[in-house]
Amino acid sequence: MAKVLVFVEQRDGKLKKASFELLGASAAAGNETHAVIIGENVSGLANECAQNGANKVHVIQDAALKNYTGEAYSRALTAAIKSISPEIVLASHTPMGKELLPIVAAHVDGALATDCTSLQFEGGKLQLKRPIYSGKAIADVEFCGTSLQMATIRQNAIGLPKADASKTADATTITVDLSGLKTKILEVVKGNSARPDVTEAPIVVSGGRSLKAAENFKILEDLADSMGAAVGASRAAVDAGYRPHRDQVGQTGKVVSPSLYIACGISGAIQHLAGMRTSKVIVAINTDPQAPIFQIADYAIVGDLFQVVPALTNEVKHLKE
Ligand SMILES: Cc1cc2nc3c(=O)[nH]c(=O)nc-3n(C[C@H](O)[C@H](O)[C@H](O)COP(=O)(O)OP(=O)(O)OC[C@H]3O[C@@H](n4cnc5c(N)ncnc54)[C@H](O)[C@@H]3O)c2cc1C
Repeated sequence: MAKVLVFVEQRDGKLKKASFELLGASAAAGNETHAVIIGENVSGLANECAQNGANKVHVIQDAALKNYTGEAYSRALTAAIKSISPEIVLASHTPMGKELLPIVAAHVDGALATDCTSLQFEGGKLQLKRPIYSGKAIADVEFCGTSLQMATIRQNAIGLPKADASKTADATTITVDLSGLKTKILEVVKGNSARPDVTEAPIVVSGGRSLKAAENFKILEDLADSMGAAVGASRAAVDAGYRPHRDQVGQTGKVVSPSLYIACGISGAIQHLAGMRTSKVIVAINTDPQAPIFQIADYAIVGDLFQVVPALTNEVKHLKE
């Protein structure tokens, strides 16, 4: 059993489900599981942490923590670590988590492994797996020495715990000195898409260069909307201006691990696979039976996406009726 601190991420007063995966995994291993929530007026979120596995919830709230900055949040998380003295610190490998934990690791002289796809707790020690060489190999990671063990875990890699709605948190407040901060967010400009982000959605429908035009992505959007999925894209599609860069999946885009990934007219270049090969189920639609994507696909559909995708959308709608 170990003392584990989970950085529970919130945006606009909503907790990220990926953080619950970490609370659940720690609690299931019998650890003393602490959650820390950082933000402005976030104490109302404490119960949700308890319901998803936290034994103890800590809150750090301040107007200066309304929007994330690495500078302010790293001060806050460092203060939490000093106050709680955990043996292990976990965060999700989100854009926030993957920036925050390296800064904090430097502050506390911790040992850090990032972008892990599995974790286990063995005699107080973390055992991690992390893809290397663009996902071509998996490294088993254990920390030597006595430094604080820290890790970021890929979203959707573990699965959500079963929440217990009857639980409430006995939250404590940690104070942190935020004077003299050098960075301040002046404005947050949000994207106008109502669809989920590719890193968070349980299903991702992605398209490649073969879509031939931005407007042709409408057929992927229809399929995605019928399933509550996000729309992703290969770099070739992004470079051609069919989709914004925030939708790009791959080595120089986002890394996703959804339950279902549907690759439409994507060849399966190594740089694309680096961003999606840990998806639970992969469906590939391609006219070329030799396309590399078929080597990692669970379901291979050899055919023209312009025929297959609308047929799939109709079938999903039909099943839902
Ligand atoms: C440093 C570096 C970083 C990179 N980072 C990324 C990254 O993050 N993400 C990424 O995706 N790529 C990345 N790339 C680019 C990558 O190497 C590939 O060029 C790119 O993934 C190809 O995109 P694509 O599969 O859409 O296009 P293509 O390789 O052109 O493949 C198109 C596929 O569509 C099929 N097709 C054609 N018409 C149809 C149809 N009507 N129906 C069904 N199938 C059809 C074809 O058979 C083909 O397999 C990177 C490259 C480099 C060098």
